[in-house]
Amino acid sequence: MSARRRGPSIRARLTGWYALALFVMLIVYATATFLAVRHEFREQLEDELAAGDASDGRATHLEARVQQQLGEVAVVLVLGLPLVVIMAAAGGYILARRALAPIDQLALDTRRITADRLHERLSVINSKDEIGRLASEINVALARLEGSFAQLRRFTADASHELRTPLAVIRGIGEVGLGAPRTPAEYQEMIGSMLEEVDRLTTLVDTLLRLSHADAGAVALSREPLDLRQVAGEVVASLGVLAEDRDQRIRLDAARPVMVVIDRVVLREALMNIVDNAIKYGPRASAIDIWVGTADQRGIVTVRDEGAGIAAEHRERIFDRFFRVDEARSRTAGGSGLGLAIAKWAVEVNGGRIFAEETTGGGAVIRIELPLVTGPEGSERAANVAARRESLEERGI
Ligand code: ADP
Repeated sequence: MSARRRGPSIRARLTGWYALALFVMLIVYATATFLAVRHEFREQLEDELAAGDASDGRATHLEARVQQQLGEVAVVLVLGLPLVVIMAAAGGYILARRALAPIDQLALDTRRITADRLHERLSVINSKDEIGRLASEINVALARLEGSFAQLRRFTADASHELRTPLAVIRGIGEVGLGAPRTPAEYQEMIGSMLEEVDRLTTLVDTLLRLSHADAGAVALSREPLDLRQVAGEVVASLGVLAEDRDQRIRLDAARPVMVVIDRVVLREALMNIVDNAIKYGPRASAIDIWVGTADQRGIVTVRDEGAGIAAEHRERIFDRFFRVDEARSRTAGGSGLGLAIAKWAVEVNGGRIFAEETTGGGAVIRIELPLVTGPEGSERAANVAARRESLEERGI
């Protein structure tokens, strides 16, 4: 059922209410006028009769004339009243139509806007009036929606592309395997390669799911005051083996407790991705330096490697989904182009920011900044955490 059939338009309703209000006011006004006129006529009549020079016949005649004049006044008022109301209603209707015409235009414009025509905008006839301001606000919302849709489309296209590559490889290996009889060792090798691609697919699908949960705000965070040194220490412990495989050394410089309120698991994932990149993109037998400290009331972690670094024009884009400076190299290293996108989400959801620093020498430096726990509560917790850590270290745990 169309909205138009549901009831009279705003224009008709406005005119109706306006005419009714005017009608009631005019009735009150006409009654008051009639009563005042009648009172005045009666007083004049009484004055003339009191002057005493009127005969009985003339008195009756005077009274009849006053009655007749009052009747004429009443007729004028009764007939004039609907006429005035009708004229005022017609004028009101025309005015309401003029005032509401931009809304009809908005309705027409809105009908043109669909998911694939999100670039269309509502016409703003007068940006200073209420309807113009409403249209401008809707246009701003449309621009945001257009951006999100474009991002979603890009993401879907990139994700499909990413998924297609391992699927094509699996298919290719399968076809080669079926093309001619092979030895058991050859089949084993082929199955091994297929499983590698399946692993890659599984990781990719898991990451995509995590990102889609993150986008939907469906990741439940459990934020608690934590020492950043602890998180960095855990990451170094987990990725130490990977670095050793490439003869790399990870040096952790964390002299003092740095208390921040974060979700440990989420932030750890961010740091894992950054250190993993430093290992992947740093040369063999090089060093990776992780510094944990404070600056400008913020908790800081920087990860520096000795690789080729990140060119200025790519420094912001590396945090975009599926962006890679060197796609072939990233794939060979097992990357999907999503690690830093996840890291960015993880840091921002914890109230911080992440960026690639401008460097003068070689190598890349990724910096995370998080709000520090301030006040006596923060320092107390920091002292407790530091004491607990020292006691664990003393006991060799
Ligand atoms: P990937 O899985 O490809 O590593 P990321 O999102 O982690 O995806 O990183 C995006 C891109 O940023 C990488 O493909 C790489 O080109 C670049 N990059 C990230 N970290 C570094 C680094 N430490 N040194 C050089 N380039 C890097």
